[in-house]
Amino acid sequence: MTLFEMLVEALSQLPQPAHIDAIKERVKEIAAAQGIERKTFSVRTVLSQNKDVFKNVNPGSGMWALAAGGPLPDVWDEGLNDLGEPEGKRVLVAHLRAERSRKLVAAFKARLPNFKCTACSFDFEVRYGELGAGFIEAHHIEPVSKLKGDKAPDLNQLAALCSNCHRMIHKAGLISVEELKRRMQL
Ligand SMILES: [Zn+2]
Ligand SMILES: [Zn+2]
Repeated sequence: MTLFEMLVEALSQLPQPAHIDAIKERVKEIAAAQGIERKTFSVRTVLSQNKDVFKNVNPGSGMWALAAGGPLPDVWDEGLNDLGEPEGKRVLVAHLRAERSRKLVAAFKARLPNFKCTACSFDFEVRYGELGAGFIEAHHIEPVSKLKGDKAPDLNQLAALCSNCHRMIHKAGLISVEELKRRMQL
């Protein structure tokens, strides 16, 4: 695990924005949990070298946050690894930001004719009854090469996926829904 990854992880776990001292402490804990001894003197450097991923809240205050907002769900860890770094990580953060935008996802779901997975047709309501009614995940389909952290997420770039297909698409390194369908054993 690189220091960059540990910083994303640390900020995901801490209430944001977090002070650099708290971030350093958390990085130490994350490193220790993995049996790595990690010197934290370069934390500030890595934070300031990745401005599209980390933002310095009130410059000079020592307060940092993930540019993409709230915590990154750990369910995407494999996606993080598959995309390589550092550009892949930035792409993924932009991707997750689009998927986490509550307004965007609510507007997207309101337009859906049904809540079936577009890759495998799984329907949560059919399987789980009332509990699954209206449940589907929004996946950002814009080609990875075009994703930039500074672009506003686009409603037309979301695809409805069940949790399994969504996870697999990330595990494969953000392939297209069509490619996922091709790889699916039906
Ligand atoms: Zn599916
Ligand atoms: Zn996704």
